Amino acid sequence: MAPKHPLIQHAENIAESFIESKLAIKKHINELETKLSTAKLELKAAVLSEKNLLHFSVTRDGNFQCPSCWVKKAVRFDLTPVENATGDRFDHFECKSCGSHYEWEA
Ligand SMILES: [Zn+2]
Repeated sequence: MAPKHPLIQHAENIAESFIESKLAIKKHINELETKLSTAKLELKAAVLSEKNLLHFSVTRDGNFQCPSCWVKKAVRFDLTPVENATGDRFDHFECKSCGSHYEWEA
């Protein structure tokens, strides 16, 4: 049997380093695909939020509405008044659904 040509050994060494990184590359591709899926969902939500904004109502049946719930999920949710500290000139409200807080001058 003839000895291996040195170039064959070089080729094997080069291929070996690629083969060793195969699993890491597959893992990296999976991570990128997950990020791409997440970005597509975020884009879809951003497009929907623009449409939802056009139909936001400040009040419904006399209750202030949560802008976050409406813009993000098209869900109408009443804001709940939060007791003001003495001397506070702002009205405070919170959303019991998403936890967001709002205030404006009374
Ligand atoms: Zn909310």
